[in-house]
Formats: sequence, structure tokens, C-alpha cells
Amino acid sequence: MKLGIWLGQLEIRIIRYFMRIPKAIQDLIESFEKLPGIGSKTAQRLTFYLLHVPQGELDNFSKSIQNLKKGTIICSTCFSVDESNPCSICSNSNRDKSTVCVVEEPLDVLALEKNGRYKGLYHVLHGKIDPLNNIGPDEIFIKQLLDRIMNHESGITEIILATNPTMEGEATAMYIARQVKTSASAEASARQANLKITRIGRGLPTGADIEYADELTLQRAMEGRSEY
Ligand SMILES: [Zn+2]
Repeated sequence: MKLGIWLGQLEIRIIRYFMRIPKAIQDLIESFEKLPGIGSKTAQRLTFYLLHVPQGELDNFSKSIQNLKKGTIICSTCFSVDESNPCSICSNSNRDKSTVCVVEEPLDVLALEKNGRYKGLYHVLHGKIDPLNNIGPDEIFIKQLLDRIMNHESGITEIILATNPTMEGEATAMYIARQVKTSASAEASARQANLKITRIGRGLPTGADIEYADELTLQRAMEGRSEY
């Protein structure tokens, strides 16, 4: 952590200590601070903003948080988040079961579904290979994807690697492609001869995030996928 940021946080903590902020406020500030992208100042601003919100709305807000995990389940096939297992996409007989689009996060599924053109299935990795943050291939759902591809009954003929075009996303795509191509089993190799691996490309600039891409860009990226 940079010294300036560290000193800033220290200052905020000292101010909080001497100001004797009520515990309820202190607790909420600390909860907000644990969220990604939220620093001490934003956490304080959000907390003090909520003091002005009617109690009924606050109750609804806290109920939504309480039900977040209780009301959702991770699909045991594609690892997307839904209300049922298998999820609504995996259990939909109209979807093309021969194509699997591999994405980093459940939000990427939502972005691609909003576009509505893609009719295949998904596989959510829940992350990307990121050595700097100690995330290796075993920390995300890559093995489950390989098992799925190798399973005779799955009938998968195309894997679309739709990880983000960042350094980590590219490394993840490369790792998966290599794992699929160099599988040891002879029987699996025969199946792999028919397996097409494609990578989304055109339309998405390097360093972009699929989650934030507009619909047209996403559509072009899907249509412009190439053999990987
Ligand atoms: Zn599913």
C-alpha cells in the first residue's frame, strides 16, 4: 500500500477514535470498506447517506442482503448463479447443447444473454488465472470444464473462450485451450478432433471488460470469434 493512502486511512481511524462515532455507524462503515472499490471516504459517505433513508427502505435493503445467498444457487453443470439447479439455461431444451461459452463471471452470462443472439450453453469459471493474486488454475472451475468436455454425453463440439481480453483473461484462455488439446486420453483425443475451440476477438479492445461492453460490441465479438 502506498504511504500516502496508508497515512490517509490512519488519519481517518484516528479521527473516528476521537470523534467517538456511534457503534452502529462505525460497524456499517467497516462493512462497506470490505467491498471491492470502496475506500474509507466512500464508505463513510454511503453510511451517512443511509441515515437519511426511511427505515422501511433500510429494512428492504437489509432483507435483500440477507436473502442474497439464501435465494440463489450455483448450477452444478455450468456454475452460473440462478434460482434452480440445473439453471434455467442448462435445463432449457431449446438451447444448443453442442456449444459452450466459457466466461469469467456470472455477470458475463447476463451481458451475453441480454444480447439474446447466443443460443448455446455457458461455463462460468468464477475468476481467471492470476498469479500475482495467487489464483492458479485449480482455484477456478477449469477442471470441471474439462470434465464436461470429456464427458461423452455432453455432445460438446465447440468451446467459445470468452474470457476478458486482459492479460489474465488471455492467459486463462490459452491455458484452457492447451489443456483441452493435450489431454492424455487417446479416446478423448478422437473426440477432440471434432472439437472446435474459438476465441472471441474483434470488437473488444485489449484490456476491456465483457461485463461493461455494449450489446453491439459483444455481438461483433461473438460473430468474429476465430479458431483458437
Ligand atoms: Zn447451468
